[in-house]
Amino acid sequence: MNTPITIIGAGLGGLMLARVLHVHGIASTIYEAEVSPDVRTQGGQLDIHDYNGQLALKAAGLFDEFTTIIHAGGEATRVLDKHGTVLLDEPDDGTGNRPEVQRGDLRRILLNSLPADTIRWGHRLASVSPLGSGRHLLTFSDGGTMTSDILVGADGAWSKVRSLLSTARPAYVGTSFIETYLFDAYVRHEASADAVGAGALFALAPEKGILAHREANGVLHTYVALNKPEDWLDRIDFSDATAARAQVAKEFEGWAPALTALITDGETDPIPRKIYGLPVDHTWGRVPGVTLLGDAAHLMSPFAGEGANLAMFDGAELGKAIATNAGDMEAALCAYEAELFRRSASAAAEAERNLKLCFDDNAPHSLLDLFSQSSTHQ
Ligand SMILES: Cc1cc2nc3c(=O)[nH]c(=O)nc-3n(C[C@H](O)[C@H](O)[C@H](O)COP(=O)(O)OP(=O)(O)OC[C@H]3O[C@@H](n4cnc5c(N)ncnc54)[C@H](O)[C@@H]3O)c2cc1C
Repeated sequence: MNTPITIIGAGLGGLMLARVLHVHGIASTIYEAEVSPDVRTQGGQLDIHDYNGQLALKAAGLFDEFTTIIHAGGEATRVLDKHGTVLLDEPDDGTGNRPEVQRGDLRRILLNSLPADTIRWGHRLASVSPLGSGRHLLTFSDGGTMTSDILVGADGAWSKVRSLLSTARPAYVGTSFIETYLFDAYVRHEASADAVGAGALFALAPEKGILAHREANGVLHTYVALNKPEDWLDRIDFSDATAARAQVAKEFEGWAPALTALITDGETDPIPRKIYGLPVDHTWGRVPGVTLLGDAAHLMSPFAGEGANLAMFDGAELGKAIATNAGDMEAALCAYEAELFRRSASAAAEAERNLKLCFDDNAPHSLLDLFSQSSTHQ
């Protein structure tokens, strides 16, 4: 089986690439490990930036639809100290350039914009090897194989395609997250809802913080962040949700109850997440017939708020490069990669810097200083 453009991974980046190719009349096939679009809830709110994510949506012809899913008011930002003292409170006055949307809504728009047969669900790439002349042999975990002419690794943090281009592996950045959800917050968790405010909350102290978002329908979505060794989360028994919540909350003794309730009142099983990143300056030499986009190319901590935006922008830029250089695919991939490396190094450096300053000895004042220096927030 041959397809002109083979994409591994139906995340935001792979879907955007397929959509922009489709807009330009170029067929592609996405092979996705998950068996259907609905196997996993696509939790979390993303702020979509006017200089990358929104440009991608415009290139995809989906900007108008995007405007219908914006969570109005969600751009508000707050910084608190551990006592719950509000140090910064910026309302969303509707003039911001980073509107918030639910990741699941964004993904649905992209999925609905593609011809029905674009995505082959339940195809987990197990290995890939070069056949020469830019072609590759792909083997899937069910034993099936296929040959690619142009292969794009949009397969996220632990990309299998990346091994064709680079020996780099994601490394633990030193921070672990525990994700919690509170529902119906304005009725049942009023104090926490007041603390979070209308949009994003950063409650910070040295080495730790509580990062939360008010999402649509009264949902408070929290990432509890702790600078800990890589195996720290492994030592918590997350099969006992109550005990796990208590153990995490213990790290926040002395914090305002409205903030710690974001942990202890969690209404779903808390989800442990270790945060990994590729080297800030991750690049590779050109290898015919294959490239990467999104986290596969430039995994970074979420502290620049750029990962999903960049994944979509990469997908759109690659789609446009292929469309305008269809006669010379290597020239297209070369031009795409030169810009990819430039923008991803810059965003990864920002993520690294922000991660350090959020939890440094001066927290939360280092973040306040950063906000006061720039007119835009992550
Ligand atoms: C806690 C957290 C919070 C974040 N918050 C933000 C934020 O606020 N703003 C922002 O811009 N970014 C944020 N990010 C980053 C963002 O989620 C990622 O950068 C973005 O999802 C990358 O998109 P992608 O398409 O490259 O990869 P992914 O979204 O990871 O998609 C990869 C796809 O490939 C599939 N796949 C993987 N392996 C295989 C295989 N072997 N075979 C076939 N398919 C495969 C996966 O199932 C998946 O569907 C956050 C990340 C984390 C961890």
